[in-house]
Amino acid sequence: MYPTWYQKYNASEDYESRVRKALNWMSAYKPDLLTLYFEKVDTQGHRGGPSSVEKTIFDVDGAIKSLVDGIDALGITANYIILSDHGMTAIDTVNTIYLEDCISLDSVEIITVSPNAGITPHIGRSEEVYNNLSNCNSHLKVYYKQDLPLKFHYSNSIRIPPILALADIGWIINATRGSNSNTTIGVHGYDNDDVDMRAIFIAYGPAFNQNVTIPGFSNLNIYPLMSSILDVKAAPNNGTIPEGILTSPNTTQN
Ligand SMILES: [Zn+2]
Repeated sequence: MYPTWYQKYNASEDYESRVRKALNWMSAYKPDLLTLYFEKVDTQGHRGGPSSVEKTIFDVDGAIKSLVDGIDALGITANYIILSDHGMTAIDTVNTIYLEDCISLDSVEIITVSPNAGITPHIGRSEEVYNNLSNCNSHLKVYYKQDLPLKFHYSNSIRIPPILALADIGWIINATRGSNSNTTIGVHGYDNDDVDMRAIFIAYGPAFNQNVTIPGFSNLNIYPLMSSILDVKAAPNNGTIPEGILTSPNTTQN
């Protein structure tokens, strides 16, 4: 399912152009919901680590200001949600776990590597791969798909491979020493309970209480929150609207 108006993600389009396009859509179509993505903080965070993103944050902040100014100029009162989908942690690539040290690479198909290795063992090799990975490195936790902790909400899709190896925060996984991807020094995708994996959430507009700070909450809760503001019936979900956010919190959407 696609939105009514959309364009394919194009990382090379500058932010001024993205904002201009969004404002043109806002003016022409008056959509109920408009989303925009600014990837620079993620890109720079990977390249230089989370402490390197200050200038990038200013750039994104400037783009958001242009958007808000443009929407004000159209005479539209909007509710804004500014958020990220994950945090970032700094990695010293010395702390790399190489799968070739743990398992025979011809016994598996490696679907993903860092920081979580998704592995599909060849037929008849599952137990061997699981045992070898489990005994490989004390910074690696290994699960069969069906045994993953419930808090990850990551077990019911056919896209998830049968074995997952999760690196501790501060560690990354690569298949071989020949892989050239271990120059990254900012990484995300770790246990979502880790403080470094926390995302930002800033909301502003008539639907939201102003000048309040509420306890951190799961991103799962964004969906029922947005459904409530848009006054649409949410599909079944396991989120809950966080307390203290909405000025009229009487609609329940979960
Ligand atoms: Zn990223």
